Amino acid sequence: MTDVQAQKVLRLLMELRGLGISDARVLGAIERVRREAFVPAAFRDQAWENVALPIGQAQTISQPLVVALMTQALEVGERHKVLEIGTGSGYQASILSKLCRRVFTMERHRPLLKEAEKRFAELKIHNVTTRFGDGSRGWPEQAPFDRIMITAAAPEVPHILRDSLAEGGILVAPVGEERRGQQLVRIRRRDGAFVAEDLGPVRFVPLVAGLPRNAAPAGKSG
Ligand code: SAH
Repeated sequence: MTDVQAQKVLRLLMELRGLGISDARVLGAIERVRREAFVPAAFRDQAWENVALPIGQAQTISQPLVVALMTQALEVGERHKVLEIGTGSGYQASILSKLCRRVFTMERHRPLLKEAEKRFAELKIHNVTTRFGDGSRGWPEQAPFDRIMITAAAPEVPHILRDSLAEGGILVAPVGEERRGQQLVRIRRRDGAFVAEDLGPVRFVPLVAGLPRNAAPAGKSG
């Protein structure tokens, strides 16, 4: 890493700290995962800025602050089995992979998933398992999960995902319509009941049911 690069990383970490990210494990993961490997070449010089960037298929890699907030809110432990819906670039899954035992991640755009899989291999991230398909239908073969993160917004959290939480589990997701504003919501499963809290406003691309037109049928990818 060059000095300029190292300075950019430090500046982002300081900015995140100033914005309320206090979990040293989360900041450590952000420091260790090279975000420039997850953005198109044309945007690489902005990789360490606190901005969302386009990744193709009309999707975006989330702003580092949002990744940090959601990861911190998820209270991930090193023995946890985590489900992510919306692989996108694979950046959030890579951050989670540093903090838990295993990440399962689903994406409905096959080209995005293929690129994300290449990045996991290049970066020697071996505890992420991918699946091509509609994440709003969950991953029943692997449930239950200790933690679930949805990185696309729906008017409500799909019940199949909520029900895939293990006892004591936590789910974090943006909830709401695209125009009316979305809230980051944390749901805890306690004694079989679900307890929800609002964590503040966010903006995400929508969770879209089904697969894109002309996509091949769902199945395990890779
Ligand atoms: N977590 C990603 C960014 C999320 S962008 C990253 O770190 O880069 C939201 C992603 O959710 C997009 O890639 C979009 O295609 C995907 N998505 C939307 N609806 C989905 C669904 N029903 N199932 C799986 N993925 C979905």
